[in-house]
Amino acid sequence: MLVNNAPILSHVHDGLTIEGYSRAAVQTCWRLNELKVLFDVGIQPWDFMGIPTAFITHAHLDHIAALPAYVSRRRMMKMDPPVIYLPDSAVDAAWDMLQTFKKLDRGAMPCELIGLLPGDQIDISREYVLTALPTTHTIDSVGFVIHQRRNKLKPEFQHLDGPQIKALKLAGEEITSEIRIPVIAYTGDTSPKGLDDNPIFFEAKTLIAEMTFVAPEHRKEKIHKHGHMHVDDFRKRQDRFQNELIIASHLSTRYNTHQVKKFVSQALPDALGGRLKLWI
Ligand SMILES: [Zn+2]
Ligand SMILES: [Zn+2]
Repeated sequence: MLVNNAPILSHVHDGLTIEGYSRAAVQTCWRLNELKVLFDVGIQPWDFMGIPTAFITHAHLDHIAALPAYVSRRRMMKMDPPVIYLPDSAVDAAWDMLQTFKKLDRGAMPCELIGLLPGDQIDISREYVLTALPTTHTIDSVGFVIHQRRNKLKPEFQHLDGPQIKALKLAGEEITSEIRIPVIAYTGDTSPKGLDDNPIFFEAKTLIAEMTFVAPEHRKEKIHKHGHMHVDDFRKRQDRFQNELIIASHLSTRYNTHQVKKFVSQALPDALGGRLKLWI
């Protein structure tokens, strides 16, 4: 790393390197280096600019504030203009914001902004496809799931040996069908409804979720109304998580690390079968 301008944590799971930082009202950014995508740009660690595609969950400042820096740095470093996906209703205002920075900075802001609606699917490579999911926050928001596409031998051919399969293939037979494996999902900011409305969040190999509140005395109705989740929301759904890894992020600044660990271990003593990782 040439410049260390922002803190990040890092974790590798199943061949995917998850890097990022996320505290509520401070900043949220993630990089999935192998998939060449960023999730949210509340801040931009210097070497995250090398990724040409960003997906933004919603336009709250702690998730979008570094957008001008991202676009401008890539131009300065002579990289291709980035492609940035964000909720459809935020595109025009984000574009205006970049034009305002153009006036202030006297530098061009070359990029493509593309609006996302829940259900939209974007090919991020031949192998991976991202789907936008409807989440529930105080402004328009989406979550994401990335599926890996794999070709699998059709069941009717599975008893055949190598030469027989090769012969069928040569004869032009369609011997495989596509299967999709949900490798990673990201909730962004959402109330529990966003989880419940999208069962895929419980099925992805890795889930990056927001867990903004952890103290028992914090009122759940108020938290949900403000579009966030509490550790008790995870406790109530603990039998539903089929994920291999559940990352809890976006913790409120009203707790220090010690308090977060204490409250979470009180609510979830077995840490969802050891699969829960606090991103703090
Ligand atoms: Zn946030
Ligand atoms: Zn938010």
